[in-house]
Amino acid sequence: MVLRLQGIMFPWRLPCLRILQHLQLQRFVASESVARCSSKAMSMEAVQRRDREEEENEKLGVLIVGAGPVGLTLSILLSSYGVRSLVVERRSKLSDHPQAHFLNNRTMEIFRKMEGLSEEIERKQPPLEHWRRFVYCTTLAGRVLGTVDHLQPEDVPSGRSPTSVAHFSQHHLLPLLFERAQRLGHRLEPKASTVKIASSVLNAGPILMGHECTSIKSSSNGVLASIFPTQAGISQGQKLACQYLVAADGAGSSVRELAGVQMEGDENLQKLISVHFMSKQLGQHLLDSVPGMLYFVFNQRVIAVIVAHNLEAGEFIAQIPFYPPQQQFEEFTEEVCKGIIYDAAGTRDIEIEVKTIKKWSMHAQVAASYFDKYGRIILVGDAAHRFPPAGGFGLNTGVQDAHNLAWKLAAVLKGQCPSALLLTYDTERRPVAIANTALSVANFKAAMAVPAALGLDPSAARLVHKVVNSGVGLLLPERFQVTLLDGLFAIGRAQVSPAFLSSLNPIGSARVLEVQRILREGQSLQLQFPAEDLGFRYLEGALVPEVGAQQQTNSHQNFPTGRRREYLPSTQPGARLPHFPIHMFCLNPPATSKEIRSTLDLVSRGGNRMEFVLLVQSHRSGCCWGDAAITAGQAFGIWDIFGIPETGAILVRPDDHVAWRSKAEPKASSTQELYLAFSKVLKKPNIQVPRFMQ
Ligand SMILES: Cc1cc2nc3c(=O)[nH]c(=O)nc-3n(C[C@H](O)[C@H](O)[C@H](O)COP(=O)(O)OP(=O)(O)OC[C@H]3O[C@@H](n4cnc5c(N)ncnc54)[C@H](O)[C@@H]3O)c2cc1C
Repeated sequence: MVLRLQGIMFPWRLPCLRILQHLQLQRFVASESVARCSSKAMSMEAVQRRDREEEENEKLGVLIVGAGPVGLTLSILLSSYGVRSLVVERRSKLSDHPQAHFLNNRTMEIFRKMEGLSEEIERKQPPLEHWRRFVYCTTLAGRVLGTVDHLQPEDVPSGRSPTSVAHFSQHHLLPLLFERAQRLGHRLEPKASTVKIASSVLNAGPILMGHECTSIKSSSNGVLASIFPTQAGISQGQKLACQYLVAADGAGSSVRELAGVQMEGDENLQKLISVHFMSKQLGQHLLDSVPGMLYFVFNQRVIAVIVAHNLEAGEFIAQIPFYPPQQQFEEFTEEVCKGIIYDAAGTRDIEIEVKTIKKWSMHAQVAASYFDKYGRIILVGDAAHRFPPAGGFGLNTGVQDAHNLAWKLAAVLKGQCPSALLLTYDTERRPVAIANTALSVANFKAAMAVPAALGLDPSAARLVHKVVNSGVGLLLPERFQVTLLDGLFAIGRAQVSPAFLSSLNPIGSARVLEVQRILREGQSLQLQFPAEDLGFRYLEGALVPEVGAQQQTNSHQNFPTGRRREYLPSTQPGARLPHFPIHMFCLNPPATSKEIRSTLDLVSRGGNRMEFVLLVQSHRSGCCWGDAAITAGQAFGIWDIFGIPETGAILVRPDDHVAWRSKAEPKASSTQELYLAFSKVLKKPNIQVPRFMQ
């Protein structure tokens, strides 16, 4: 761990002054004693063999289950801090079914420090003009009821971040993450192995494709996990002992279940069928008429959301409400799905290739704890929280979980900090997930404003479904239940027939006017949530809260409404360090460089180390904060500090969040103050200021 002291001359002109020295990384020696099963039936030889195997694996620090976007991000970040992890993924190849596509500002900032990932995404994403709008229409080829541009100049203020939001599909992001992981030394093991994987391979930190974690045994010393190849015909599995097991295995996390962690909140808000299809003709038609990211389609035959992942490539997802048990997933054959897409398109005069059809359920839930009872199994991403996709917070929150967890896990595994630091992952991230759940639900409700204005209250559809599935409904024979449901839905959809919405119908035209008012006044589903995206703040955890400090109004304490709220930069402890452009200049010979960096660039980009940065104002008086930082640095590791002293200081963590700040003039007790701050942040209460320094 490194403390880097930066002198900042307000307004944010950075003198090129910094000296770094690395903490000698304490070699991590695993002290696992794995759980032993007491099978009497095992021969002594088998027991000894198993013990040998477990001992061989003793050095495994982290096992990540699931190579989705969150698991991969975590393994990359851990590698950048010099910690190898083993990733197991049950799929034998990457998923090519698009899910998430909207990357928010904070996620892009995290990706910016992952070997230029954000730049690559910016280069490869579709042009902004293709995805800035949401379109509300009767069919894709038909009447547009209204559009909303979510990226007007006021929506993308340049001053708040060195990056911006992006539209890049999850199935295109995954290969880029894999590539980064491989660059950092992760070996991709694409095939399920027929033999036990050698510990030399495991210790190199591979990504094991086609391997599933099937059982776990956790204790206060670590976790013993069973890993089996998923390929049919291979039955040899193996047990791996690790210090920590991270469940990055998605919304249906089996690890979470095995660990006995409950989910809290509402389940199964809505079931949907997601159809991945390609149609260059449709893409071109929309590019020529009304390019957009989301198309909300309402007509008498179908109600659906069509997500344009890439108009130029003609790549789409159709999200269709699904009502089991009256509707069966198997009924959604390729032909049926094509029919639905044609109904949404409003024309059969286009070619469509259906790639995959999946069902999924929308929940609004957060795990009761992000750790199992031993603190050895850690939940991240969708395994820890599952939101409605409205607002696109799922993947983004997961990536940000990984970012919060990585430096803490690395510090604990390297023996630099006690495991109490790790527990702050739960303290800090669960409230954010709870807030993002509430926000996603509010967004989901906001998204319902338009169909409700058209007389299509989706909650009524769910109610009808519920009634058919309860008491009286279930007394009817199954085929009558289906007919009843179809009939009631058809009556509902008749509200959006062209005849009903025509200008000749006063009710229909009044409804269309109401839709346009809702869109104009920003009461429909929004794309950007700056206050929640960049403004989330940790109130407690690995930080020193300010006593009596006024709570910032834009963080997640306020109940979300689904309406856009602005981001207010803050340096309060727990907040992300605000971005300010830094104009680089050289002292000798004096020259100004054209290069402009961000305050966020002051914090580490990996390189096998974690950095804390102390920002101090430029000097007027003595060198008090600098002295304090040197002494504290020496006590907490081997730090070498160079600083410019002045009033006030901000201590920034490796994940860019403010750990502590002081607005005070530096004084004799500054050393003590900084000692105290570090001991609270790193959870090392026993390091005292030497007497002669007090
Ligand atoms: C329709 C839709 C649209 C969405 N849009 C957005 C959006 O725009 N923005 C956004 O931020 N989010 C969005 N999301 C949410 C986003 O897709 C998820 O939040 C994201 O995939 C979570 O990533 P993850 O890595 O936690 O889990 P996953 O992506 O689910 O990955 C988990 C991985 O674990 C593997 N696995 C599971 N069990 C095991 C096991 N036992 N052993 C080994 N491997 C296992 C799985 O095969 C999988 O590869 C959307 C979701 C949906 C359904």
